[in-house]
Amino acid sequence: MRIDIITIFPEMFEGPFSESIIKRAQQKNLIEIRLHQLRDYTMDKHKKVDDYAFSGGAGMVMMIEPVARCLETLKAERIYDEIIYMSPDGDLLDQKTSNKLSILKNVVILCGHYKGIDERIRQHLITREISIGNYVLSGGELAAAVLVDSVVRLIPGVLGDETSALSDSYQDGLVSPPVYTRPQEFSGWKVPDVLLSGNEKLIENWKHEQAVERTRKRRPGMLEE
Ligand code: SAH
Repeated sequence: MRIDIITIFPEMFEGPFSESIIKRAQQKNLIEIRLHQLRDYTMDKHKKVDDYAFSGGAGMVMMIEPVARCLETLKAERIYDEIIYMSPDGDLLDQKTSNKLSILKNVVILCGHYKGIDERIRQHLITREISIGNYVLSGGELAAAVLVDSVVRLIPGVLGDETSALSDSYQDGLVSPPVYTRPQEFSGWKVPDVLLSGNEKLIENWKHEQAVERTRKRRPGMLEE
């Protein structure tokens, strides 16, 4: 999968994309992430990419021209399956969406800033809008990093068996059961006996019961679905 990210703060991605699973996915050539500095696509001599809103009021709005020029350049090279705008009022990101996105080939992610982006970008140039939650961030970069992380770990070959995504929360309509590791006892707090029993069937049943119970308590809506 190739992911092109349009941003005015490309450095914000350095940390999240240069560690752990996303780093390995790039090294294994399972994903290719390209960061594009939006300011490189403005004709303005001061590299301005935002301007005052026509309505007046506080906050700057990101202009359509640099975004359109950047997208034109990218689209001349390949066909994109989705051009996503990270937006607080977009479709709420969930595991189903990440699963669907993980089988795409080419994706663009546009990060907004300031007061948002000119509405005409959203109407004419964007194919999809995604929010990571009902709260407002200062920019789309952190949201885009969250989206990329949740998608990349689902691409076949990215995770080894030991971290298989299939057993994670939401993948089978349930949240994960609790997990334990050594020591067997700490400050009198014990690991449930069943997990030490060696009886695979009992352990499987216990995990399933725990997952259902947790889902009922924490995400009752999921069981209804
Ligand atoms: N004035 C806008 C908020 C702009 S926030 C409004 O009230 O809707 C600036 C940028 O941060 C947005 O353009 C968007 O790209 C990003 N952003 C903020 N919150 C987000 C969220 N919850 N999910 C995804 N992107 C978000």
